[in-house]
Order: sequence, then structure tokens, then C-alpha cells
Amino acid sequence: MSGRTCDIAIVGGGLSGGLIALALAQLRPDVSLRLIEAGDTPGGNHRWSWFDSDLTDAGKALVRPIRKTTWEDGNHVAFPAYRRQLSTPYSSIASQDLAAALQRELPEGAIMLRSRVTEIRGDGVTLASGEQVTARTVIDARGAVSTPHLAGGWQVFMGRHLRCATPHGIARPIIMDARVEQLGGYRFVYVLPLSAHELFVEDTYYQDTPELDRSALSSRIDAYCRQHAWDGDILGFETGVLPVITSGNAARYLDSVRTEGVAMVGARGLFTHPLTSYTLPFAVETALAIAEDADLPGDQLAAKMEARARRHWAATGFYRLLGNMLFGAARPDKRVNVFQRFYRMPEPLIERFYAGKSTLADKARVLVGKPPVPITRALAALTSSRPALETPPHESDVK
Ligand SMILES: Cc1cc2nc3c(=O)[nH]c(=O)nc-3n(C[C@H](O)[C@H](O)[C@H](O)COP(=O)(O)OP(=O)(O)OC[C@H]3O[C@@H](n4cnc5c(N)ncnc54)[C@H](O)[C@@H]3O)c2cc1C
Repeated sequence: MSGRTCDIAIVGGGLSGGLIALALAQLRPDVSLRLIEAGDTPGGNHRWSWFDSDLTDAGKALVRPIRKTTWEDGNHVAFPAYRRQLSTPYSSIASQDLAAALQRELPEGAIMLRSRVTEIRGDGVTLASGEQVTARTVIDARGAVSTPHLAGGWQVFMGRHLRCATPHGIARPIIMDARVEQLGGYRFVYVLPLSAHELFVEDTYYQDTPELDRSALSSRIDAYCRQHAWDGDILGFETGVLPVITSGNAARYLDSVRTEGVAMVGARGLFTHPLTSYTLPFAVETALAIAEDADLPGDQLAAKMEARARRHWAATGFYRLLGNMLFGAARPDKRVNVFQRFYRMPEPLIERFYAGKSTLADKARVLVGKPPVPITRALAALTSSRPALETPPHESDVK
């Protein structure tokens, strides 16, 4: 290590940075690391969920030390026209679960909290306190940024963690309950039964703008809970404003956020599912890849990660196309029809869609047949452009 603070410095102790640190601790305990996080705790305030089919066996082994809730019996969806039960197991972790696993698994002193990085370089970082952390390899995991180089829409949501006074009676996650009033975009409620009494209820919108009206969403969650007679104490809540990428110039985006010699990962590194905005499956794979390349100098790891990001961008074009159709071709109150039609597809196709691994046959199946949007509008949407994924500087919820 010769005079440096550590071999690898990871800037940002969120999902992607945390998983990389976990992978290094598990697979390369000989590599010294620092996980440098601006906040009081790693992970922020989120709940991250995934389908069993999103992860490989190695990925499942990586997340094993994290306390999680798993629903082995699958999940279901509900649309105005039908309900469907799906057999894919589903899992969920809270930020505190990731933080606890990191505190347990990482060597003492590896996690640096309340440490805002003000300068990032190929050979180390400077903290707001003036402290220097020097490293052979620096990884930038600071989360998504507002950008003029990507375009699309937004997934906006508020989730509430609730302890019901009486058992709620829900056995499986409801991934989408789209039987709710469609307001300003595709709207659905997501429900996780965390225990016999505890529920996580999230009101979500695929909408054109990044505005999040907290009081409106909160009262709609109230109304949904009242309708189901779920009454009890609120244990916590989270909000999210996530970009849904429908087009853009990945090369220009990467040019605009890259620091020479620094590897970029997570949402900032473009490792997202363009349509669902989920990053967990890709963050897990990236963490495993970095553990395999843990001896590389920073500039080589940076080049490898950027090549990986470009491949990921090329491989996910289909989801951007679907996003374009969703936002551009369907009237906001009719966007529900796109998902209502999609969820009638065979289950393995749905699994591959969420994992970002749709086959050519899957893509053809999704695109052919009676379209859920008028064909003229669909064609117009493909040639039109969507607004840039830029947020006002004060929007602190944007991840
Ligand atoms: C509320 C919410 C729920 C979500 N649910 C899911 C889900 O269920 N499944 C899924 O796959 N995806 C989900 N996502 C989407 C996506 O997976 C998350 O946004 C994910 O956290 C992105 O990971 P990341 O590591 O890129 O960024 P983040 O997890 O946001 O981590 C970035 C970290 O960097 C830190 N940081 C930033 N700047 C600095 C600095 N200068 N110095 C030091 N530290 C810094 C931040 O404090 C933060 O902790 C959700 C997003 C949100 C907001």
C-alpha cells in the first residue's frame, strides 16, 4: 500500500458504494478500503427491493449478510381489468439493514461518516474538513446527477411504513395496484407486508415532471389505507424522484461527469434500468466485477467501468424505447394500459424484463400484437424528443 491511506477509496456509501465495500470485504479482505459517506449513516433513507430472478447465485451470496424480508410465495399485481399472482420470490431491504451489514462486515475504521468529499482525483480525495484520503484506486459512487444529456420522464413516489393496530391480512407484496385513480401519469400503489402488523405502502407516478407534492401523496396514502381499513402508527416514510431515461447521448453524459482516472458506478455511472429506474441488480453485478478487478490501478478500473457502462447503455435501448412510448404515445391517464397489457405476458418474460435481460423474442412479443397506445401516436413518439432530465438545484429528493 506504501504510504497511501488505503488501496481503494469509495466515495458515496449508498447502495452501489455499500455493495462494492461489502464485496471487497467478502471476496478480497486483503484489500484495504475506505467507504466515504457525507451522511450520518451509510445508505440514506430508502427501501430497496428486487425479484429473485434479478440476481445470480453469486449476487445472492453477496447480499446474504444483509437482513432482508423475503416473500418466497411470490407477488401479485392488480389492474382495472384483472389481478394476477406471480410466483417469483421478492426481497426487500431497508437502508438500516445495509448500514448494519456494513458496520458488521467491514474492518474497523473503513467507514467514514459525515465526510463530504469536496474534491475527487485519481489518487485520492479531499474532504470538507480538509482531510486527505489517498488511494491507489478511487471509485465515484455519489448517486445520480441532474443532466442536460439524458431525456425522459420521472418516477415520483412517497412510501409510508405503518404498524397496523390489527393484522392487515396481506400475504404477498403487491408490486402494482393500478386500480387507483390515474392522476397526472401512470399511478399505482405498491404494498409490502413486512410482518403480520407492518406494511410499507407507496404511492407512485410515472409523470412528466419531477415535482413531488408531499401533502397530496400523503393524503392519497391515507385514503388508500382507509379504504383497506389499515389503521395504525406511522413508523417512517421515504420519497423518491427517479429519472426514467427514454433517450440521450451517453457519451456526452459520461464526458460531463467523468473525473480522469476515477471509476464511476451506480446511478451516476449509468447502471440503471431505464424504465423501472431500479439499480440494485446492476449494482450487485458491478460490485462483484470490481472485487474481481480489485488489484487494478485506478485509471484501468475507470476505463473498464466506462466500457461496462457503454455496454449496459447499448443493451438497454429497448427499455428506453418502451419508455418513449409510455411517455410520448400514451395520454397520462391511459399509460396504465401499457402496464396492464405487459403484465399479461408469460412470467419468465416479465422476470427478464425487470432484470434488464429481455431476449430478442421477448422484445418482439412486447412490441407486436394489438398495441396499448394508438399506433400513430406511438410512431410520432419514437421520432419526438422528451425533456432533459434536469432538476431544479433545490430538489433535494432527487437521487
Ligand atoms: C426512495 C428510493 C427507493 C428506491 N427503491 C429502489 C428499489 O426498490 N430497487 C432498486 O433497485 N432501486 C431503487 N431505487 C433506485 C436506486 O436503486 C437508488 O436510487 C440507489 O440508491 C442508487 O444507488 P447509488 O449508489 O447510485 O446512489 P445512492 O444510493 O443515492 O448513494 C449515493 C451516496 O453518495 C453520498 N454522497 C453524495 N455526494 C457525496 C460527497 N460529496 N461526499 C460523500 N458522499 C457523498 C450520498 O449521501 C449517498 O449516500 C430507489 C431510490 C429511492 C430514492
